[in-house]
Amino acid sequence: MHLEGIHHVTCITGDARSNVDFYTRVLGLRLVKKTVNQDDPTVYHLFYADEEGSAGSDITFFEYPGARRGRAGTGMVHTVTWRVPSPEALSFWEQRLAGAGVSTRRRDDRLAFADPEGLGLELAVVETADRPLVASHPEIPADVALQGFDGVRAFADDPERSRPLLEGALGFAPAGPASWDVRGAARGGLYAFDAPPASGPGVPGAGTVHHVAWSSTMEAHEAWRERVAAAGGRPTPVIDRFWFRSVYFREPSGVLFELATLGPGFAVDEDPAHLGEALILPPAFERLRPQVEAVLTPIENPRAAWSR
Ligand code: ZN
Repeated sequence: MHLEGIHHVTCITGDARSNVDFYTRVLGLRLVKKTVNQDDPTVYHLFYADEEGSAGSDITFFEYPGARRGRAGTGMVHTVTWRVPSPEALSFWEQRLAGAGVSTRRRDDRLAFADPEGLGLELAVVETADRPLVASHPEIPADVALQGFDGVRAFADDPERSRPLLEGALGFAPAGPASWDVRGAARGGLYAFDAPPASGPGVPGAGTVHHVAWSSTMEAHEAWRERVAAAGGRPTPVIDRFWFRSVYFREPSGVLFELATLGPGFAVDEDPAHLGEALILPPAFERLRPQVEAVLTPIENPRAAWSR
């Protein structure tokens, strides 16, 4: 039994419009679901991914309008890394991001930058047999586009505290002193720790990661939950998120983990050709639609601009 790499990474934004602009127009991802936080329906939940909305490519944001900027600290993910196929792709992104006013740092086969709210992002040249998870964009050739996640890096005071749970219950394979390969039959991703910054404890807020979700097959999901509980973790019950099922717990270094199923997927309630265009509400919130629509920031379908 193995987890199939990263399912999604969920973050916080204080500005949905600028967030949509950066992740769709600049980075070229597809807005695949526009919905609300199922625990607070007045808050947007925006999902950006590849063309199909695949697990492994899916970065999501809760919008708390006007939220102040946070800062990653111990127990928080500080960098999200996507794969690109070649050094030429890194050069493309170096130029494209500069053109969008985003400063970058290139080191060897990596390009580091931040989103408009300071969230740490990185592109890495990675040779892999994993399927490239690519979105279409009129200005970004498919052979340089982002190919899905390579991994996430978090801050921890003492990574050894996490090792027994990660390697025992979750089957993470050691890949370095404080890094692990989380690889299943179809896909893998990396989890790594760095020493926390001297700037002090983390502050949740805009531009920080809320949680990272790891992919489980539908069949193994309950068994993963039981393994975490047996190892002394405190997993939530299985929660039905409609597009997938979820279990949450904090790993021993404090990072909020989710185990999410690889199905049923984003096309269960939308035409795959029109993912992310309409506001989709979970069934329990459908009766609140007029109130919810009145408080959410209006967002235009990013692809509407393509034909203009
Ligand atoms: Zn999640």
